[in-house]
Order: sequence, then C-alpha cells, then structure tokens
Amino acid sequence: MAGLSLPSVLPSKPALQDTTTTPDQLQTGLARVTSSAETPIFICGFKACNRLFPSRDRVMFHRKRDHDSEDDSAIITWNE
Ligand SMILES: [Zn+2]
Repeated sequence: MAGLSLPSVLPSKPALQDTTTTPDQLQTGLARVTSSAETPIFICGFKACNRLFPSRDRVMFHRKRDHDSEDDSAIITWNE
C-alpha cells in the first residue's frame, strides 16, 4: 500500500518453536492458528509504545489521545 512505512528498527527477539502447547490444548481452543482477516492487528509503532489495536482508526484515536499526534506513519500491521 502506498505511503505505508515502518520504523527502520523494530524491537526483536528470535522466534522460537512452541514446544509447550499440546495437541489437546489445540483441540480445546486454548490455542489456535489464525489469519490476518480473522485477527486484525495494528500496532502503534511510536518509540516504546507498541500497543495493539484492532483497526487503523483505533490506532489513530489512541495517537491523538495519548501522543497528541495525528501522524499516521509507524503503524505495524499484517492487514494491509
Ligand atoms: Zn502509541
């Protein structure tokens, strides 16, 4: 999508295989695989914030209220 940008450095750590969730837990709904359509995730990419929201609109509402900013860059998502 045009205009979308990410911070040049993101907090990171190695992704590790889930060795604790059992097949029984998957069956009973304690854990499951999801998709971007089913679980929208929008993260406020402002420095040291990283809060999660279910839509771009909610991030922008949070930005205005908590950061006093209308900057719509630095939103990290797998939905766009
Ligand atoms: Zn924020």
